[in-house]
Amino acid sequence: MALWVQKYGGSSVADAACMMNVADRIRRARDEGHQLVVVVSAMGDATDDLIELARQVNPDPDPREMDMLLATGEQVSIAILTMALHRVGVPAISLTGPQAGIFAESVHLKGRILDVRPKRIWEALRENKVVIVAGFQGLDSKDDIVTLGRGGSDMTAVALAWALKADRCQFFKDVTGVFTADPRVVPDARKLDEISYDEMLELASMGAAVLQSRAVEFAKAYGVPLEVRSSFEDRPGTLVREEVDAMEKIVVRGLAADKKQAKVTLLKVPDRPGIAASIFTAVSKANVNVDMIVLNVSAQGQLADLSFTVPEGDLKTALEAVRKVVPEVDSAGVTHDADIAKVSIVGVGMRSHSGIAARMFSALARQGIDIQMISTSEIKISVVISKPQADDAVRALHREFRLDRGPEPAAPAPRRRRRR
Ligand code: ASP
Ligand code: MG
Repeated sequence: MALWVQKYGGSSVADAACMMNVADRIRRARDEGHQLVVVVSAMGDATDDLIELARQVNPDPDPREMDMLLATGEQVSIAILTMALHRVGVPAISLTGPQAGIFAESVHLKGRILDVRPKRIWEALRENKVVIVAGFQGLDSKDDIVTLGRGGSDMTAVALAWALKADRCQFFKDVTGVFTADPRVVPDARKLDEISYDEMLELASMGAAVLQSRAVEFAKAYGVPLEVRSSFEDRPGTLVREEVDAMEKIVVRGLAADKKQAKVTLLKVPDRPGIAASIFTAVSKANVNVDMIVLNVSAQGQLADLSFTVPEGDLKTALEAVRKVVPEVDSAGVTHDADIAKVSIVGVGMRSHSGIAARMFSALARQGIDIQMISTSEIKISVVISKPQADDAVRALHREFRLDRGPEPAAPAPRRRRRR
């Protein structure tokens, strides 16, 4: 008998009808003889609604109380789904994160899972029950509820799949899998059959909101293969797994635009050792993750502008942190710009192919798109451009790398051959 962990995201459990649909799916998987542990997110936009509700009473709510509030979203889901399962005759029990034995670091709103002790899950499985677990939450060392960052139910699912040594870890979404680009922006985007952890990580961190990055990192570290598929259709999804040689044949696997970025610039910073260290120490102490960094030393060499990007939601915190060090580093001041987007192309094949950056920049130039920042890794090239141009950029790059046609240099896909 196989043990499956399934995760259903907010849009898959958005209302009563969706809940019945999920219950039916679970019933069918169970009828096939599998044991099931199911992680659910809050219904629809419940988390956003709770955040909005909190802001109405206090624009700067205490993080501990925020966690207390946000955790209720998932608790509604587990109870409702369990009731739906009972109605279709499936024995099931709901467990909160703490009840499921999920222990997290004591950082409110961004906790990391430290340990999973799934005693009650095993007990319920032995009683032949389907176990419905609230995603996105754990217990810290003070017995307080901590949430795991937006999209954190994915992390719950991967951690449980690992701790329970599950045979499968499936993510049910309102999309049929991972796409070469956002199909709402690029109508001929294609669903990928497989993608490596590293590619998925790059895409996830670029705002291709398919799986939470932390969850993919964890899956990679512990070799948990993931499957992303649709909760509304019965079709194979996308397998996220370790890289195999054949994957390198594809230069660009997919692309993404992250429109939730902001740029911070320190003007006229003296060019001397230790300056970058003080600035980024201050930012990291404020718990803000910096992504791209550009230090622009002028020809005269004395003064430089230093720009970096942060998630838009952390802009205020980053600015506060940076303003404090402005006198210390002798900067002329700080500016910021939230009207930017980061557009990236991703593929493990970039390691063994050259000229990809040139092609990317030329394609953007032909659209008259100005590049403000560039960063590269072995398998990714990102540019910062102005936000209103992001969709055009994505479409141009999708065309340039012929992502609509399937794997570029490899043999023609069988599907296309048949059509000819
Ligand atoms: N409900 C939380 C969120 O919207 C967690 C999740 O959906 O995974 O971020
Ligand atoms: Mg959600």
